[in-house]
Amino acid sequence: MKKTRPMIASERNYVIEKEKFVPVSEYYGEDTFSNRVMKEKLPKDTYKKIMDAVNEDKNLDERTADIVAQAMKEWALEKGATHFAHWFQPMTGTTAEKHDAFADPAGPCEVLERFSGKQLVQGEPDASSFPSGGVRATFEARGYTAWDMSSPAFIRRNGISTTLCIPTAFISFTGVALDKKTPLLRSNKAISKSAVNMLRLLGNKNVKKVYSNLGPEQEYFLIDMDYFYKRQDLVLGGRAVVGAPPAKGQELEDQYFGSIKERVSSYMHDVEEELFKLGVPAKTRHNEVAPSQFEIAPVYEEANLAADHNQIIMDTLKSVAKKHNLACLLHEKPFAGINGSGKHVNWSLSDDKGNNLLNPGKTPHDNVSFLVFLIATVRAVYKHADILRASVATYANDHRLGANEAPPAIISVFLGKQLTGILDNIEKGTIAKATNAEIIDLDISSLPIVSKDNTDRNRTSPFAFTGNKFEFRAVGSSQSINGPALALNTIVAESLDYLAEKIRARGGNINQAVFEVLRKEIGEIKAVLFNGDNYSREWEIEAGKRGLPNNKTAPVALKGLVTDKALALFEKYEVLSNVELRSRYLIHLERYINDLEIEAKCLNNICVSQIIPAAVTYQQRLASAINETKEALGGAVVLPAEKEMLKNISDLINKIYATNKEIMAKIEAADAVDDEQKKAEMLCAKVKTKMNELREYVDELEVLVDEEIWPVPKFWEMLFIS
Ligand code: ADP
Ligand code: MG
Repeated sequence: MKKTRPMIASERNYVIEKEKFVPVSEYYGEDTFSNRVMKEKLPKDTYKKIMDAVNEDKNLDERTADIVAQAMKEWALEKGATHFAHWFQPMTGTTAEKHDAFADPAGPCEVLERFSGKQLVQGEPDASSFPSGGVRATFEARGYTAWDMSSPAFIRRNGISTTLCIPTAFISFTGVALDKKTPLLRSNKAISKSAVNMLRLLGNKNVKKVYSNLGPEQEYFLIDMDYFYKRQDLVLGGRAVVGAPPAKGQELEDQYFGSIKERVSSYMHDVEEELFKLGVPAKTRHNEVAPSQFEIAPVYEEANLAADHNQIIMDTLKSVAKKHNLACLLHEKPFAGINGSGKHVNWSLSDDKGNNLLNPGKTPHDNVSFLVFLIATVRAVYKHADILRASVATYANDHRLGANEAPPAIISVFLGKQLTGILDNIEKGTIAKATNAEIIDLDISSLPIVSKDNTDRNRTSPFAFTGNKFEFRAVGSSQSINGPALALNTIVAESLDYLAEKIRARGGNINQAVFEVLRKEIGEIKAVLFNGDNYSREWEIEAGKRGLPNNKTAPVALKGLVTDKALALFEKYEVLSNVELRSRYLIHLERYINDLEIEAKCLNNICVSQIIPAAVTYQQRLASAINETKEALGGAVVLPAEKEMLKNISDLINKIYATNKEIMAKIEAADAVDDEQKKAEMLCAKVKTKMNELREYVDELEVLVDEEIWPVPKFWEMLFIS
């Protein structure tokens, strides 16, 4: 490939227009129709009605909706918006929006800007082209979007177009959820109800609502846009299907938390500016482990808002990259042989007074409550590890999980030494109640300090307690976090109810009842606790002995969504009906099949139309060189080096050609299978393995062929941004 050195930032023609420095506090949230704006623009009673609707899940009457719509329209027009859009999250995993102009004919050659309460509250996008897993038969293509009042409307600017985006849920005519937001909202309700009940049982009568909070740490890669567009695998599937790792990868460990290059930090600055305008609390940024890998983490927020904001973050990372002539890769494993990208999802529960229920308290009572919520979560993971695993099962994430940089497919819980010790003692009966004296004796009161200590950390665990929250680390970087979050909320709600029932059944002194129940429970669930190295082979063996599920591939893992246990659970908590859950399972399977086939076809195209022609050119050059040298020096000359090179190259061409053909035949065979589950498993077992084999041949060839004629950008070129 003909090299052109990527330009450094100062050579580029993008102009940094900042005339003067404006503190973030002056523009933070300016592009959102926030509570502050509503308070300012709405009549007092309207504002109160909308707050009540959000906080107490009440409906909004038509008249109020009209007033809000009017204010929202005026605000949006001031911001330059010409259109409004119901912004929703279909099962594709990304977001969708249908734009409508505010301008409405009001007579010949006349328009008025109009926006009614009805248009704000409900939309009717044509839903027929979104995945529905068979829920929505083609004759009933209508889908409805419904305004989600708990997430603020915002302004999106794209080039010179400006749109008011209204976060919405997306449902079918019959009320079936067609999106990722609806079940998350339902799971928020479920966990709140169960947690409030538990708190009441433990003597806390004041709490009305409990929130689940999410703090997703988003990893991503950046490469020069010029390289990106030269690779159809990156453009179409987000992952380099061929490419040998560079001579220098991440072994020097000089990238992690290293100083950020100018071009990248300018990019990060622009990303954050956009996010701040949208009220997304982007907090930390740093280099990640792999070259050209980075992370952005916002401050945690209530789950629904955090999930919307994560979608906005992913969109913003991509759109701002273009302005810097960069491509942002959110794929879980864009470059084989180099660390992949995850999205650690930090999860906790807090009450309506802002108390974190997973924060070990200072009083005996707080500690009892903490232990109950902690153990309920551990129990949930133990009972439903398969559901959590299914919630992160995608084709892309399979490349990363278990690849010695990310947790394995075995879902276990890390609690750290001290907490594990406390649980042991509760189980043994040496801690049987939570009096002040014993708490001090047993050091429980120092929990917050000790367990938050960074030395007691385990980076290899898929589900780790980190002081006052759990960190679910198996989530993939490109995934919507709604699925994992709603799974967590639902399984923990169930565990809280289960424990509450046991505690109630014991009766008598509440603290004593709690400890007796926990004692028995710990014994049953402790197999899921593991503080060691989750990447090791020994753990895989040990986990097998403990009977923990180890669903290594997505097709197998996805079955966890449609077990009787899962169907009953999600239905009981009114998060997903059986129809909805089954349709989701099917959508995920179909997505797996599509993702895999797209990659396989890309690989085929790259091999046949780029790699083989380049190799043949070089082969021909070598052959003529041999013949011409012989001619020049006389027939007796041997030329062993050239001959060996020629032989190796033609062998590899043959292997690549043959393996490619085999892959295409196997895909055809799989496509003939009707059952989606079987088809996905077949592709996984037969095609994926062959694709890996083919890749090895291509990567071997890459280092043999003249660099000048290699047809796709190499890893070393792409991964070291200047
Ligand atoms: P780490 O050491 O894992 O990077 P941080 O303290 O930096 O941990 O937090 C990482 C993420 O966890 C951030 O998004 C942060 O806002 C979030 N987080 C912190 N506390 C909570 C909490 N109580 N609930 C949910 N997320 C939280
Ligand atoms: Mg973290």
